[in-house]
Amino acid sequence: MSILNHHAHDDNCIFCKIVAGEIPSKKVYEDEDLLAFHDIKPWAPIHFLMIPKAHIPSMAQLTPEHEQMMGKIMVKAGELALSQGALPYPEGGFRIVANTGHHGGQEVHHLHVHVLAGERPWQKI
Ligand code: 5GP
Ligand code: ZN
Repeated sequence: MSILNHHAHDDNCIFCKIVAGEIPSKKVYEDEDLLAFHDIKPWAPIHFLMIPKAHIPSMAQLTPEHEQMMGKIMVKAGELALSQGALPYPEGGFRIVANTGHHGGQEVHHLHVHVLAGERPWQKI
């Protein structure tokens, strides 16, 4: 059973189209609530995005009903980073970024968490 009892969908949202399979993606992980896929323009040797399948515009719209889903993203991030070749903590590790709103540098308005890992230097940040 999915954590949220409905999957809000926005027809104009590029990440909703990825969830629906209308735009192809290189999947890292999928379950009933979440999808993880490689970023099309990676900033680091390992760079994937983790998104809720439900359309939530950003971190700014989160409410207590999302706690379990966001917790799942955070708990899964490290496991997925290792599965993609990140070296273990503390020598390796990873970085999590959640751009939120214009000042936060957000371009795609479907909540996503960037997971970045691998040898430096990276392209951005
Ligand atoms: P933001 O700046 O909103 O945090 O990041 C959006 C990210 O989504 C960017 O890193 C961008 O490369 C990625 N992205 C945008 N469109 C697509 C797409 O169609 N497929 C994939 N895999 N990534 C995308
Ligand atoms: Zn969406």
